[in-house]
Amino acid sequence: MATASTQYDVIVIGAGPAGYVAAIRCAQLGFKTACIDNWSNSKGQPSPGGTFVNAGCISSMALLESSKIYHLLNNDINSHGIKIDNLEIDLSQMIKRKDSIIDSLNHHITKLFNQNKIDCIHGHGKLLTAGKVEVTEKKDGRQHQLTAENIILATGSYPSVLPCAPVDNEFIIDSSHALNLTEIPKRLGIIGAGIIGLELAGIWNRLGSNVILLEAQETFLTTPDQLISDEAFRIFTQQGLDIRLGARVISAKKGSKKVILEYQDNEGSHTLHLDKLIVASGREPNTENIAAAEADLLLDECGFVHVDKNCGTTLPGVYAIGDLSALGPMLAHKGLEEGVFVAEKIAGIDSPINYDIISSVIYTSPEIAWVGQTEQALKAIGEHYKIGLFPFSASARANASGKTEGLVKIITHAETDLILGVHIIGDQASELIAEAVLAMEFSASAEDLARTIHAHPSISEALHEAALALDNRALHIPPS
Ligand SMILES: Cc1cc2nc3c(=O)[nH]c(=O)nc-3n(C[C@H](O)[C@H](O)[C@H](O)COP(=O)(O)OP(=O)(O)OC[C@H]3O[C@@H](n4cnc5c(N)ncnc54)[C@H](O)[C@@H]3O)c2cc1C
Repeated sequence: MATASTQYDVIVIGAGPAGYVAAIRCAQLGFKTACIDNWSNSKGQPSPGGTFVNAGCISSMALLESSKIYHLLNNDINSHGIKIDNLEIDLSQMIKRKDSIIDSLNHHITKLFNQNKIDCIHGHGKLLTAGKVEVTEKKDGRQHQLTAENIILATGSYPSVLPCAPVDNEFIIDSSHALNLTEIPKRLGIIGAGIIGLELAGIWNRLGSNVILLEAQETFLTTPDQLISDEAFRIFTQQGLDIRLGARVISAKKGSKKVILEYQDNEGSHTLHLDKLIVASGREPNTENIAAAEADLLLDECGFVHVDKNCGTTLPGVYAIGDLSALGPMLAHKGLEEGVFVAEKIAGIDSPINYDIISSVIYTSPEIAWVGQTEQALKAIGEHYKIGLFPFSASARANASGKTEGLVKIITHAETDLILGVHIIGDQASELIAEAVLAMEFSASAEDLARTIHAHPSISEALHEAALALDNRALHIPPS
């Protein structure tokens, strides 16, 4: 929607989770706000929500759910005493369902913009100088200028490019296009066994692809605690994922209807013939053409917009939030929290973000979630810590639902009992981690968790039992 106004209190460039939340909070605080976003759907219409809605978490989550249902019906359903014949996958319907979820979220955000009286502009925004933005309308390429005392840059990120595996989005595809395949590849290669690579691997593996993950690092998943990563490696390998570590891809090119990929590891050179190859080797901040050269917007050495601890850039009244800045992880919930933070900062409210307590989740099956420090990091700095472990195999609820894989690991300070980190692999880890985040945010001790009554039977009891296990008091596992 174009707008007749040219002067605002706040202009937000980008309507991903960081940008659209910043715009809403600004409007709530009484600022006259415009939000410019250039994402279009297949019909050329505006699609606010950014990567998060259009090609990231939500798309991935929709297919994840469909693939989990198929897998359950195809594998474990007989044990429930339910028989199903002639189970089939209709991939185009699966993708259609995903697209309709995206559509409905696009509409919801547009409605929120309207309800909050935010001018939402479908176009490309470019910072000309502090206080001034040039808009190029998507509809007709018309250019005009807007002014605002405060400008929030929230242009997000895009998939990293690997020169050795040039993406054509037909055979060699990036992580966004990997959620729009029209047929299930028999043999699927994925470069990168990080969060995105593992989520995509899980989806296509459950739908029947033979998945090979090529990871250049020698160690599997280095950000969660090592115990969780080891357990994940064991479970995923058992599920059929072929995870090759220390695999450095040399080249990938399209042959006749196949991708021919060459990689090297410690044993030498290898060639793979794949039906499709997904490149999921990370994401880069999207700074292309977001500011005129004269604006002199400072980037850091990794290409992120340079910001101070208040998300302020080097230009007065110009902020950068979300994937665009190197503060904290590239995650939707970090971006949206920064959106609220900056809007409140502009309004003179100080509501700082605790970057040390941001949870991370990998939506695999089982899920992986963690917050705070790992045992390895604490050991490296010589911290005194204690460990409490509880396996889901000892949880009554996990047994009832047949999801007994995984465990909870709580790490506390040996003297103060403060919770320093919680790491989980298991069913509903993404929900369970919220309790750990809350406990840490309130500086809870493990004893606080141990003395909190948890519903029985519930998955959350695993956290309670892990807290009890710190002092060898867990009730449903033998003493250690
Ligand atoms: C497959 C996949 C799965 C993911 N899963 C998760 C997950 O489970 N949990 C999680 O927390 N994170 C996940 N992420 C990461 C998450 O999507 C990002 O961290 C998040 O979207 C970043 O939000 P943002 O607002 O900074 O940027 P984006 O969501 O990238 O939005 C930026 C917006 O700005 C627009 N834009 C860019 N330049 C301009 C310009 N000059 N003018 C106007 N508009 C512009 C873009 O078109 C886009 O709409 C996933 C990502 C991928 C790819």
